[in-house]
Amino acid sequence: MITCFRRCALSVLALAAAVSPLAAAAQDKPAPISESEVRTHIAILASDDFEGRAPGTSGETKTLDYLAKTWASYGLVSGTNDAATPWFQPVPLVERKPYAHRFSAMRGSRTIRIDSDAVILASKDTQGQARGEPLFVGYGVAADGTLNADVAGRIVIMLSAEPKFEGAAKLPSRREREKLLAEAGAAAVLLTAPDGMSWGAVRSALGSGSMRRASDDAAPPISGLLRADALKALLRPAGLSPAAAMRQAGEPGFAPVSLPVTLDLAATTSVRAFDSHNVIAKLPGARPGSGAILLLGHWDHFGICRSEEAEDRICNGAVDNASGMAVLLTIAERLARSAEMGAPLDRDVYFMGTTAEERGLLGAYHFADNPNVPLDQILVALNVDTVAIAPKGAPVAIVGRGETGLDEIVDSIAIAAGRTVETGTEANAFIRRQDGWALAAKGVKSIMAGGSFADMALLQAFLTTVYHQPEDELTDATPLGGAADDANLHVDLVRHFADEAKYTPAATGD
Ligand SMILES: [Zn+2]
Repeated sequence: MITCFRRCALSVLALAAAVSPLAAAAQDKPAPISESEVRTHIAILASDDFEGRAPGTSGETKTLDYLAKTWASYGLVSGTNDAATPWFQPVPLVERKPYAHRFSAMRGSRTIRIDSDAVILASKDTQGQARGEPLFVGYGVAADGTLNADVAGRIVIMLSAEPKFEGAAKLPSRREREKLLAEAGAAAVLLTAPDGMSWGAVRSALGSGSMRRASDDAAPPISGLLRADALKALLRPAGLSPAAAMRQAGEPGFAPVSLPVTLDLAATTSVRAFDSHNVIAKLPGARPGSGAILLLGHWDHFGICRSEEAEDRICNGAVDNASGMAVLLTIAERLARSAEMGAPLDRDVYFMGTTAEERGLLGAYHFADNPNVPLDQILVALNVDTVAIAPKGAPVAIVGRGETGLDEIVDSIAIAAGRTVETGTEANAFIRRQDGWALAAKGVKSIMAGGSFADMALLQAFLTTVYHQPEDELTDATPLGGAADDANLHVDLVRHFADEAKYTPAATGD
């Protein structure tokens, strides 16, 4: 109500100012985006009514509807560039939800006690099973990126962390390694739980179901995850501790270790193929053909992520990533308003909400493989994810610093806006964990700039508590100062990059 009063008062003032010769100049620049504008959109997207925005649920329908209608209300048009599928790009997915599993580990005739909650198993088809001695393969690949063992028919235990070998160039990601193992005929692939993530978050991510693109559905007959205590119990008969196993796995001459244990795995899984969607809006520029700027963020989250007996079953994803989508809406509103007020941008600006980021950047990869805008026309991609972390006035970090040649521009625009700049590259630890990676991997200049990745202690405090849990909800304490700052920073960034006179992409070979 106070907001309404202030807005009304401001618009009266704006009307009064319209008689002054300065009015036109003043109106070229709408007021900065406020915390309350960001909050309004988060409150809707992260409400229980949207059921946690899981792909393929009624939460998806509501989310897509809200995003497209809000963008359209600002004057944006469909950005799919395809009259047959306006606004929404179908993304064919296959979802697997584990129903039940059996997991037993024997050493000779003795049972190794492992808590059944410490293992998550899913089958590729409705039913799957595997039996045998597991092979601990470390990262699964040698320093040249090829598989380090013959895994045909084997139950493989692999580290989920990114492989690091001294001197080795870029090694395949966890997903790529899983795919290599599946193609090589592994009977089962059991991953260690990722570091720095609570088991609850792991369960939300994989226990509630895995998703793959229908076009990229190579999976072993059984996939699973092992909690730290389960891994420890399986390594012990080989005389290995988890720490020793990790250390050996990182050594260049590492050889996989067969564990003297018999595992018996069986899983029943519900398998569903369906179309989810990326939503794409466009603010047409005044000079078509001069290239495009893409802003993106993921609209999806984990939906109903806890069993029936839980008090709160919905993973609302207020910070992750209702906050980013809220910011993309406010940016679109400001840019569309200044275009209407006679200051159109030269270049087209696309706004994309991607699906299934939480399931492995699936919507972003689908777009990168089937782009509605040719990728070589996208001069800059700016991803906005998890922005409600930092307080107002936080420094600006860049995920992707040093990779695109854009750093100096971003830094100077941030400084001009009164922000300080974090010039370290710590934030690059997240480079493969965000949608922009799908585009960067295909050569698009892609960064994530803002306050959330500037202070690792603050970010870790989020990642190790409410992240991917039902507690990621909008509260009075949710910090939105940094989100509003980042929204305004992106308005400035787009104004720069979408202006032909201000930004000319460097020639190839840069
Ligand atoms: Zn997430």
